[in-house]
Amino acid sequence: MSLFIASLNSGSNGNCYYIGNDNEAVFVDAGISCRETERRMKRLDLPINRIKAIFISHEHDDHIKGVETLSLKYQIPVYITDDTLSGSGLKLKKQFVFPFEKFKPINIGNLTVTAFPKFHDATNPHSFVISHNKINVGVFTDVGIACKEVIKYFKLCHAAFLESNYDEHMLVRKLSLSFKKPNSQRARSFIKPAGP
Ligand SMILES: [Zn+2]
Repeated sequence: MSLFIASLNSGSNGNCYYIGNDNEAVFVDAGISCRETERRMKRLDLPINRIKAIFISHEHDDHIKGVETLSLKYQIPVYITDDTLSGSGLKLKKQFVFPFEKFKPINIGNLTVTAFPKFHDATNPHSFVISHNKINVGVFTDVGIACKEVIKYFKLCHAAFLESNYDEHMLVRKLSLSFKKPNSQRARSFIKPAGP
């Protein structure tokens, strides 16, 4: 059984990543509108009813914009932490809301999704590794600092989506931190030595 992965959109204007086999698939984040998600899925010849779960990394708009409509229209369960849900203002139907915990794998058909915490200016942000037949796909968004967890999981991945797009100066002001390198360089810096 093959595994198909796609970035429907990546960056500050929306994040939505597709990982699926022949029977089931998940989205990590749904940060573009439902209509745009449908359009892009169609273009890739991917049936949207194959999506069995949406995992939410954190509450920023570029990660959740399409979630409400997608979940309601296609009856898709949304895996989201309580903190992220309350921080997001999302109005989801209770029966479609499921919690997840860091390091605790969740099975979606033959896919296994494991969340781990990451460093980001959000309430309770996570990255994910999706596994299928011993193939691991990582989704690491808003990577600013290549923390220990990201490096550990990146090394286990056969493929990874890596996004790093925030403005360094804004972040420096916000957190009163100083960085020696731009974040995109930091993100690149851990690509080199890693790999399964
Ligand atoms: Zn964010």
